[in-house]
Amino acid sequence: MEKHLEALKDAVARPLWHDPEIMPESLASLSSDQKCDLLIVGGGFTGLWAAMQAKERRPDADIILIEQTFVGDGASGRCGGFISTTLTQGETNTAHRFADEAGRLEQLGIQNLRELLETVDHYHIDARYEKTGEMFVALDPDSAKRLQKEYQQALAEGEDVVWFDKDSVREQVNSPIIHAGLWERDGQDGVIDPARLCWGLKDVLVNQLGVRIFEGTKLLDLKPVGNESMQAFCEGGVISSDKVLLATNAFTSLIGEIRRSVIPVWDYQIATEPLSDEQLDRIAWGKTSRHALADYVNMFHYFRLTKDNRITWGGGGAVRYYFNNGIDKKYMDAPACYEQLAKELFEMFPQLDDVKFTNKWGGIIATSTRFCMVPGTAYDGRIAWSVGYTGHGVGASRFGARIGIEMLGYAPTDILDMQFVRQKALPWAPEPFRWFGVRFTQNALIKADRNGGKRGLWLKFLDRLGLGFTC
Ligand SMILES: Cc1cc2nc3c(=O)[nH]c(=O)nc-3n(C[C@H](O)[C@H](O)[C@H](O)COP(=O)(O)OP(=O)(O)OC[C@H]3O[C@@H](n4cnc5c(N)ncnc54)[C@H](O)[C@@H]3O)c2cc1C
Repeated sequence: MEKHLEALKDAVARPLWHDPEIMPESLASLSSDQKCDLLIVGGGFTGLWAAMQAKERRPDADIILIEQTFVGDGASGRCGGFISTTLTQGETNTAHRFADEAGRLEQLGIQNLRELLETVDHYHIDARYEKTGEMFVALDPDSAKRLQKEYQQALAEGEDVVWFDKDSVREQVNSPIIHAGLWERDGQDGVIDPARLCWGLKDVLVNQLGVRIFEGTKLLDLKPVGNESMQAFCEGGVISSDKVLLATNAFTSLIGEIRRSVIPVWDYQIATEPLSDEQLDRIAWGKTSRHALADYVNMFHYFRLTKDNRITWGGGGAVRYYFNNGIDKKYMDAPACYEQLAKELFEMFPQLDDVKFTNKWGGIIATSTRFCMVPGTAYDGRIAWSVGYTGHGVGASRFGARIGIEMLGYAPTDILDMQFVRQKALPWAPEPFRWFGVRFTQNALIKADRNGGKRGLWLKFLDRLGLGFTC
């Protein structure tokens, strides 16, 4: 059996973060009709942070949060745990779409992450945060040149960045395929354990702030009651609420505008067993540095160390869009994706040929046509949503939650006047064009990556339409 298949043989199909030892008990499902001021649908970061910030702004608000399975079962409890200030999937996307608001968005992103970490601290949530910055590594000489230009530009803009050439980068992360590295170490960017954060927030909301959370409770339908309030028809009962926040991200929505602006893209990850000291010595990483890493390509891998020195490894070409917005949990069973990831990890670190994988899992990324969050409202502002964070939602979802509750009247501020909030996202094409389009674009991105980043005709065409994806 090939080495990567052997190493993957006993991996459990469960997110590393969903450790049964620390998973909290499920909360009861809804079993009778209820009333509240604010109903939040979705127990991921957006929903949890919305409840937290709504309570900060209106401590007496009666809030219910419902989650169809369990808190942290969506992208939030399955992600890579890279946490950053970006609200827009990076500076290139900001410059492309919100150039006039770039400075404000940067400041809001910094403020958002600072406040997020302060809250985590305040409530003593053990989210296993590590301030690592983020390091991009170039995998070929052309990419190294492009990355070096980014370094020069960042230096000129006064950012705290460090450049590693081929030799010095291997003292940080010893891989034979890395040609250079750019470490962005300013600010508070780092990594967390995402499920611990979800469950820590859940605990605070229920036990300290009086938010009622019903797990195993799916929203089935929404109906207005006159001009005043909404009724949410759920498994187990009807909830009457003045306002409703939909924090359902990539999951199928009752609202057509959400269904058109976001598609679910599956992203897969694997995790190794904890590395021994001697294994860490072989790769330097974990000894001389603990960078949170991504390779500098369009279809990038993201990889990091956990507190107990496992490597989690995800992304790359192992992302899939399944026809007609497929979100069924059967797509967790994706052997080809896991095998590809395992093979690629051994290409990055051939010295780790004795390491085994313990976990493999997938989750759905809500991808919007603007590659960052999409806020919106319906029913005269009685319903709001914030969805579509694409690959950067761990930090940004708290800001999305803020926009959501402000749109529902919870101490609104002038952020609601920003283009970032007001501008509508373009709709995705209907099927079957959607499936072909995503497939074709993914292949074009892979081709560009193999070609030192040179974008072909299709990608240039998308760029001109404002639909081009860049990392
Ligand atoms: C594999 C993977 C890796 C990622 N890595 C990173 C990363 O490293 N850094 C980063 O910044 N971002 C990353 N992301 C993106 C990030 O995880 C998300 O943007 C973020 O978690 C979105 O949070 P959310 O609360 O909006 O959505 P979710 O966490 O998906 O929560 C939505 C919740 O709504 C519930 N729900 C849906 N419909 C209903 C209904 N009808 N009734 C009741 N409940 C419902 C779902 O069950 C789900 O729990 C990653 C995503 C994935 C999938």
